[in-house]
Amino acid sequence: MDTHQIVWNEMVAKQIVQHLDKRRMEGSYAPNGAQARDEITAMIPPGAKVYRCGSMTTAGIGLWEKIAQLPGVEIIDPYQPGLSPEQAMELRRQGMIADVMIASSNAITLDGRLVNLDGTGNRVAAMCFGPKKVILVVGMNKVAPDLESAMARVKHYAAPVNVIRAGFNNPCKENGLCIDCKSPQRICNLWSIIEGHMIKGRIHVKLVGENLGY
Ligand code: SF4
Repeated sequence: MDTHQIVWNEMVAKQIVQHLDKRRMEGSYAPNGAQARDEITAMIPPGAKVYRCGSMTTAGIGLWEKIAQLPGVEIIDPYQPGLSPEQAMELRRQGMIADVMIASSNAITLDGRLVNLDGTGNRVAAMCFGPKKVILVVGMNKVAPDLESAMARVKHYAAPVNVIRAGFNNPCKENGLCIDCKSPQRICNLWSIIEGHMIKGRIHVKLVGENLGY
């Protein structure tokens, strides 16, 4: 990040945080991943069960290694190596009643709406209801001007890149472009647009002044 990008990030993040507050969600800004990691770790209550959702952002800032060091905290991790598909699915179910869920968001609009798209829906479902606290770590590269551009970002960039990462045999793996496939491994099945929440403060968005995730 050069100086001008840092200034833009701080100015825009401040306004998004204000919009989140109006939507009964919390928001805060960290200028870098290391600070975000420490601030999020400090938000985990002692003895909490923490649900890990798929996120290159949270892995990229070393968040899970830090949380694993917290005394008494249990991480519900469907992505740990060696699990059968059935075991991984069961952990996703257990995650729905965790104390804390941590993920990213595929996009966030300038007026504080959270836009996400899932294959199986465990992540978007838990964002909406289940875990007592939801913490979403969002790099400023995921800010979109409005809902239309946010959805376009998710469908035409985040989804194909995630398909390439996962190695799924979907059409976008071949050329990076979405053709709205009906593949069995399609990861674009379930949209979520979060415009606010009745439980004030349940969702906390940690904006980060770095390019993180897709
Ligand atoms: S709908 Fe299919 S082709 Fe389009 S991004 Fe999703 S998985 Fe790829």
